[in-house]
Amino acid sequence: MQYNSVEFDTYFKNYPDEKGFFGKYGGSYIQPELQTAMNEIAAAYQTICKSSKFIAELRKIRREFQGRPTPVSYLERLSNSIGTGVQLYVKREDLNHTGAHKLNHCMGEALLAKYMGKKKVIAETGAGQHGVALATAAAYFGLECDIYMGSVDIQKQAPNVARMKILGARVVEVTEGLATLKEAVDAAFAAYCREYKDAIYCIGSVVGPHPFPMMVRDFQSVIGIEARAQFLEMTGELPDAVVACVGGGSNAMGIFSGFLNDPVDIYGVEPLGRGSRMGDHAASLQYGEEGIMHGFNSIMLKDENGEPAPVYSVASGLDYPSSGPEHAFLHDLGRVKYDVVNDDETIDAFYTLSRLEGIIPAIESAHAVAYGIKLAKTIGKGSVLINLSGRGDKDMDYIIRKYGIR
Ligand SMILES: *Cc1c(COP(=O)(O)O)cnc(C)c1O
Repeated sequence: MQYNSVEFDTYFKNYPDEKGFFGKYGGSYIQPELQTAMNEIAAAYQTICKSSKFIAELRKIRREFQGRPTPVSYLERLSNSIGTGVQLYVKREDLNHTGAHKLNHCMGEALLAKYMGKKKVIAETGAGQHGVALATAAAYFGLECDIYMGSVDIQKQAPNVARMKILGARVVEVTEGLATLKEAVDAAFAAYCREYKDAIYCIGSVVGPHPFPMMVRDFQSVIGIEARAQFLEMTGELPDAVVACVGGGSNAMGIFSGFLNDPVDIYGVEPLGRGSRMGDHAASLQYGEEGIMHGFNSIMLKDENGEPAPVYSVASGLDYPSSGPEHAFLHDLGRVKYDVVNDDETIDAFYTLSRLEGIIPAIESAHAVAYGIKLAKTIGKGSVLINLSGRGDKDMDYIIRKYGIR
């Protein structure tokens, strides 16, 4: 398959290139001390992660600890209620251990840390989901784990802070500035500069400097590989469309990578939040422009000074002012169509999936469900496979307080 002179049958060989570029996006824009550490990780990834020993160990972990393969479920009552004849399916990453897809890359990153002889993993977290997944992986491998988190987020995300501590992680409070995700990223990078001989930094999505966008995509590609085979076995065909929500973009790259070389329409769904005014959404591919932040070149939302703009989404896992460089590339190529749904459509979908299917989705994943329902109403026939990136247990208190029982 070919899009704007990019061949998808050789896509994974060619993208990213050896410097981590997907076309003009990606790369590594960081201070020299950190570049040394990133080069070490990139070299280790090429040798260690491609070895049959590493692959065999990761496969065993996926099967025996994570509970993979996760199933694909047909949404019979939801499909019938839409009534256009379009069949909806979900890939059940909510059934992955810890309740979301993030463990797919955290187990890979922590296993790499172990093979590299590192004693510690370091990361930042906003809502705490990445922190919990990494703390889980660290406990499994017997690694120390430092999670940097702003004081404001520590107050807001008490259950996840408790989870990380129970798992044995050290939650390092960051009090600078607004004391949220951005300051936590800065503090975690500073710690990594001091400790990179003994530690590795584990990024939580397909973002950051090379090799992370590639590495996290490759660890998440298990979603797409499983889903494609499962869907073929269930229906004898490929889906007509695949849908996933996009924050940084890791769950989306995971499922998309299984279908890039197929005649399948692919949709990435960004959060429109309260509306299209700057500050009310986090739809970076929809409204952003090219720019560099957090060590990589991509499409981002900028304020008037060219700095990352304030963003908002009802889903705390989606409120990031950029997206992974590979999404910017696939966006420009036209291979993936990026579109938006707002908070209200998302909350409707949250309740619809819960009531009709007995599956309570994460609010992040409910964005993809909302878009899948819209597609089912417009395309008129065929099948849509939605990546259900996580379960909604973490969101229930918030939903009840803010929206009440519907
Ligand atoms: C973190 C998170 C996301 C957003 O991250 P991506 O890297 O865009 O996948 C989506 N869904 C759930 C359940 C999450 O926890």
